[in-house]
Amino acid sequence: MKVIIAGGGIGGLTTAIALQQRGITCEVYDAAPANKALGAGIMLAPNAMTVFDKLGVGHALRAHGAVARQFYIRYYKGDVLQHIDGSLLQQKFGSASYGIHRAALQQQLIEAVQTPVHWGKRCTRAEQTAEGVTVHFEDGTTASGNVLVGADGIHSVLREQHVAKARYRYSGQTCWRAIVPVNLPEREAAEASEVWGNGNGLRAMCMQVGPQQVYFWMTKRMPAGLKIPPEEALAFIKKELRHFPGYMHNVMEHLQPEALIHSDLYDIAPMRQWYNGRIVLLGDAAHATTPNLGQGAGQAIEDAYVLAKWLATEKNITSAFEKYQRQRRKRVHMLVRTSWQLARITNWKGPLLAALRNTLLKSVPAGIAEKQIDLVYGVQLD
Ligand SMILES: Cc1cc2nc3c(=O)[nH]c(=O)nc-3n(C[C@H](O)[C@H](O)[C@H](O)COP(=O)(O)OP(=O)(O)OC[C@H]3O[C@@H](n4cnc5c(N)ncnc54)[C@H](O)[C@@H]3O)c2cc1C
Repeated sequence: MKVIIAGGGIGGLTTAIALQQRGITCEVYDAAPANKALGAGIMLAPNAMTVFDKLGVGHALRAHGAVARQFYIRYYKGDVLQHIDGSLLQQKFGSASYGIHRAALQQQLIEAVQTPVHWGKRCTRAEQTAEGVTVHFEDGTTASGNVLVGADGIHSVLREQHVAKARYRYSGQTCWRAIVPVNLPEREAAEASEVWGNGNGLRAMCMQVGPQQVYFWMTKRMPAGLKIPPEEALAFIKKELRHFPGYMHNVMEHLQPEALIHSDLYDIAPMRQWYNGRIVLLGDAAHATTPNLGQGAGQAIEDAYVLAKWLATEKNITSAFEKYQRQRRKRVHMLVRTSWQLARITNWKGPLLAALRNTLLKSVPAGIAEKQIDLVYGVQLD
């Protein structure tokens, strides 16, 4: 069997590693002109790290990332709204969460893929017959195989043309992210702390992901589509975070406006069908989610493992796709919905609702909090 993967992001690269572990030949094609160090940081939750361990890349990723010994959600005035102990995650799930520069993650995954990634290959369409599937690229070239994996992200061309039209949903949150060349004070460097403001979706986080590399993000409830020049955006961010803890101000002083990446946060409404014939969707192409639970990449990584498992063990492609979809869909949709609801809660407007939100969060009984953690991080994929 030969598998063509359209999209060499986290989902596509992990799929290639999972397939090669199962002895299945694959080729990866990505629209980006070259392998360039892009993006800010990312949190790899225990469920993602556990898959990477099964695929033999967990060790390399840990060496290039930073463990979140403690994870906090704090109100900007200091109260702890939620806390997760990294050693508890390690004990229960076999790994804590790790923060890593996206470029380092991509590089480690590329190094683990045994065949070179084909860059500058934007797929525009595909055609399939009983014998196989051919994908066409913008530059006039094609690639053929038995299976085509659409790992081409939230705006997937393959999904729109061959599986289903997505319904995009704007979460009401816009987001700025960057890697900032600075070190956090000792306490903050050992933890991942999300700080929440007085309503209106204002949240920010700084996490040390490497020496002189702080992963910073801020979200805010705002209309979609605003184009704010980086200098103005930085001034806006500083103003919004003026009452946030002092270490964040120091990070802001080192933040270069041109390092800012701005995106409006969308997901796609849960879709029932993830495949058609020989074409199957994976990661954001199948189920893009808002990042409120930090699970988008985690779910793409789980997808990759499960798809490779069924392709290696099922008699035919259709039953492999059906088993993949059946195993993945319920869990993924639960996480997409939970993340969407979290976006709504954090978007509550004004100090009164923010106070109510804080009380609700602080009063979640320990048993329920633990169940929620199990739901998100505890998954049986084999
Ligand atoms: C602000 C923000 C913060 C996030 N934080 C986290 C986090 O902490 N933890 C977490 O688990 N997730 C997080 N996510 C989600 C995570 O980034 C995504 O879920 C993940 O990147 C999805 O991987 P993917 O491979 O499916 O898609 P993508 O990463 O979008 O990769 C798609 C790839 O396909 C290529 N491509 C696109 N179109 C084509 C085409 N037509 N032909 C060929 N190639 C194409 C692109 O170049 C790209 O390389 C976050 C997302 C956002 C927006």
